[in-house]
Amino acid sequence: MATLAQRLKQIRSQINDAELAYNRQPGSVLLLAVSKTKPSEAIACAYQFGQRHFGENYLQEALKKQQELGAYAITWHFIGPIQSNKTKALATHFDWVHSVDSLKIARRLSEQRPSHLPPLNICLQVNISDEPSKSGITLAELPPLCELVAKLPNLKLRGVMAIPAPQQDFEQQRRPYKILYQAVAKLGQPELDTFSFGMTGDLTAAIAEGSTIVRIGTALFGERDYSQM
Ligand SMILES: *Cc1c(COP(=O)(O)O)cnc(C)c1O
Repeated sequence: MATLAQRLKQIRSQINDAELAYNRQPGSVLLLAVSKTKPSEAIACAYQFGQRHFGENYLQEALKKQQELGAYAITWHFIGPIQSNKTKALATHFDWVHSVDSLKIARRLSEQRPSHLPPLNICLQVNISDEPSKSGITLAELPPLCELVAKLPNLKLRGVMAIPAPQQDFEQQRRPYKILYQAVAKLGQPELDTFSFGMTGDLTAAIAEGSTIVRIGTALFGERDYSQM
């Protein structure tokens, strides 16, 4: 099995290749290492090889790792479903939240962001495949919600996040990202500079359609084992 250092190198080169192939500016796609279910040691190891951005889905697990890794200059991203009783901790302990899907959650995050911290970077999660089981707003809800969220004082609305239904075919993978990218472009808000698109199975398609952050777990840390949780 490849080492973490080798996997990291492999993913970085896959990102570079996709940037080149699809006329994206070199270095314009950020690698977010998704470390859910993985121990702090795995994060520390990736950090040692230059990785700085890490994504977590479960608040308690993330807070524990943040404590263990307090000495590391990590940028923490929250990418999981949000319950309203968790917003205070999210506003306090994260730099980014990708999975905002209601005005209520956005308002709470803004109200609860400590004043000594810079505005919290957020993305609105869009349920682009309209899957009833997935969280996220609809495309139609995007323009009005953007307008309201952009006014909240302690948030910085950066863009959108999507988790489309898994597809094997490359062109099928591209389609939902293209639709969402164009919907955001139509809003004409240049401050929306972030497209949190792409996971292990579809990162090249996501980069082809404008991704600026790919969220990679499995290809970096291996399969996840949920049985211990
Ligand atoms: C777990 C997770 C990922 C990482 O998925 P992989 O397929 O393991 O790369 C990315 N985004 C979100 C929102 C996740 O929950």
